[in-house]
Amino acid sequence: MKLEGKVAIITGAGRGIGVGISRCLAEEGADIVVCSRTFSEVKRVADEAKKLGCKSLAVDVDVTDNKQVAQLIKKVLSTFGKIDILVNNVGGGRAEAGISRADLSEKGSSIVDLDDGDWNDSYELNFKSVIHLCKAVVPHMKAQKSGKIINIASIGGKIGDSYRAPYCSMKGAEIVFTKALAREMARYNVNVNSICPGLIYTPLWQQAAEQLYRTVPYYREMKEPREVFLHYVKKLVPLGREQTIDDVGHLVVFLASEDSKNITGQSINVDGGMFME
Ligand code: NAD
Repeated sequence: MKLEGKVAIITGAGRGIGVGISRCLAEEGADIVVCSRTFSEVKRVADEAKKLGCKSLAVDVDVTDNKQVAQLIKKVLSTFGKIDILVNNVGGGRAEAGISRADLSEKGSSIVDLDDGDWNDSYELNFKSVIHLCKAVVPHMKAQKSGKIINIASIGGKIGDSYRAPYCSMKGAEIVFTKALAREMARYNVNVNSICPGLIYTPLWQQAAEQLYRTVPYYREMKEPREVFLHYVKKLVPLGREQTIDDVGHLVVFLASEDSKNITGQSINVDGGMFME
């Protein structure tokens, strides 16, 4: 096992990609701290991890609240005595998040209709939370002279899709922040990387598919919302298949292990070839 004895924090671990990341880390022997706003969901993920033989802790925390983030880190350090891996997975947006080049043109999606509240909400969830979690673990990782920070961004942060400017801008900022922090932390033997997923049918995407199904006449002719998602996969993914939560989980394990000790400041796509740099 690659991560035995390591302690990992995963945010947004109650649903979707965070569940896959938590399971993959636990399968490699890491002890995991799973956090999200909904305790019942992270409790389920933590209980499943215990069955794999690792220690786990479920914490309900709103990562947009700096005080709650500070309390989380205090609790992890008092329970496990250290933090080796931080996975900043929380993110998302309004229902249209997750849709590339969508034919969404209803009020609120175009930049002329977005107000300061829309931008601030996206900043709080997608970027501020990442900054504060990093700020909270960095002194500890510096002192221990080791650590792995993995930020879950999006290929939207590289492409800059129309009709979801706040989400894409914050994800782009997360990718650049990853580089800046990687340079700062390199001398302390801390690797910082991001992962950019493509199309994964999580609750985030389900919500988007349902909205499109309800509102766009072309999609209403389809059998169910999932068909809307599969339509995007067919149209946009060169490899022709959807990505999975395990695809991201496996890359997190690689980036959290010593196998990737000479990789830092990178943003790696898991998108079936949608965005080739
Ligand atoms: P999701 O909405 O399905 O799950 C997000 C999780 O985060 C949930 O457990 C939710 O409770 C938790 N959460 C939300 N706000 C929170 C807050 N303020 N504090 C604490 N927890 C909070 O999302 P997902 O699809 O699994 O996406 C995970 C990450 O991957 C996000 O950063 C997203 O932007 C990114 N991503 C997803 C896709 C995709 O196709 N699903 C594509 C590209 C990038």
